[in-house]
Amino acid sequence: MAFTEKEIDNYKQSFPLLEEIMDLEPTVWLNPDLKEAQVTPELPLTKEDMIEAEKLWIRFAPFLKKALPKLNHTNGIIESPLKNISKMKEVLEANYHSKINGNLYLKCDNELPVAGSIKARGGFYEVLHYAESLAIDAGLINREENYEAFQIESFKEFFQQYSIGVGSTGNLGLSIGIMSAKLGFNVSVYMSRDAKQWKKDLLREKGAKVFEFDGDFSVAIDTGRKQTLADPKGYFVDDESSKHLFLGYSTAAFELEEQLKKQDIKVDKDNPLFVYLPCGVGGSPGGITFGLKQLFGDNVHCFFVEPTHSPSVLIGLLTGKMNKVSVQDFGIDNLTAADGLAVGRPSSFATSISKHLISGIYTMEDDELYKLLALLYDYEDINVEPSATAGIIGPQRISKTNYTAQALENATHIAWSTGGALVPEVDMKQFYEKGKQILETKNI
Ligand SMILES: *Cc1c(COP(=O)(O)O)cnc(C)c1O
Repeated sequence: MAFTEKEIDNYKQSFPLLEEIMDLEPTVWLNPDLKEAQVTPELPLTKEDMIEAEKLWIRFAPFLKKALPKLNHTNGIIESPLKNISKMKEVLEANYHSKINGNLYLKCDNELPVAGSIKARGGFYEVLHYAESLAIDAGLINREENYEAFQIESFKEFFQQYSIGVGSTGNLGLSIGIMSAKLGFNVSVYMSRDAKQWKKDLLREKGAKVFEFDGDFSVAIDTGRKQTLADPKGYFVDDESSKHLFLGYSTAAFELEEQLKKQDIKVDKDNPLFVYLPCGVGGSPGGITFGLKQLFGDNVHCFFVEPTHSPSVLIGLLTGKMNKVSVQDFGIDNLTAADGLAVGRPSSFATSISKHLISGIYTMEDDELYKLLALLYDYEDINVEPSATAGIIGPQRISKTNYTAQALENATHIAWSTGGALVPEVDMKQFYEKGKQILETKNI
């Protein structure tokens, strides 16, 4: 329920930026709580947890390679390319009349196979982690054995007695649904009725049950949680508070570190790394930021990006109320075309960590997402979904602030591209045409 006028006035007085946020203006917020690595308070997770998470991925690689032909060429490792997008950089500089210091790269999670989005990292990880703990507890396997065994029929039969549930507007449902069904779990995805039809169809085709709900998405989540937990062998993947999703995302930092090394890209005080991450509940950008901070400390600067209509993590952090407030409380409608970013309330677990680690958050309009989508296709031949373009404008948005490290000539900027591979061609064409139209009429 929305706050009263008086409550809102009080908030605005304490946090003047709320005025702009409530007017749906694109805005940039620099995090006053960002601490240097040395004085960061103790967090609920450590680098050790991340290393353990990485080992789980490696244990499951033989299974993933066998079970999912699309992971064959990477030997069962979930990974995406890091691409230099220098043509896009030039176009951005010309169109936005502002120079980008350093190089611009795209981390192409839009290409992640099987799930088609960044959710392959968090979602798959959580399901695999759960499957492993069940199998070990039941004495079916130990950590030293070959996990190809998860393919065999007796494992599938074992998992059939367990159910997994998840509430999702789309992409998380796909990753949880596909991996759970593959292992043999009884999986249910609770979605809002207006979620994309192709996502529901794909899930059913893969063997997941899909339940649809009218009205606010929170109804789907609440019902999903209740129904799943009513089963004593039910497990609910909770995007609003999951530690496992978070850890699954965090290991992307090892992958990026390796890629930077291979491409001879230095990261140190004089060569800072900037990473711009599209943000929904804050789990994927939070997990990746946590991972990068463990590896690069103060030399990495992470910014989240949210749609002007769904600034949930921004409001949570700005007011310090975290998941206790929603965008709707402030009269913001949470309506955006950016799948995965249409989130009214942040993850409590992720946001409590991000509070100390992120450099800031900026917001942007849907039209700009479409515009960048069209440019990215025209100049780099890369197809992504609208949400995935949000980071590309990061360097120019931050350059207008007084954030110090951004002035360095030899910065490396990485826009994290978060989804797109599974989007049907007709939908992708519509996104592109919409972007072209905006480019022509709005004259950036
Ligand atoms: C889920 C998602 C995000 C954001 O991840 P959160 O964990 O919700 O913050 C960004 N882009 C896409 C395409 C997504 O599906």
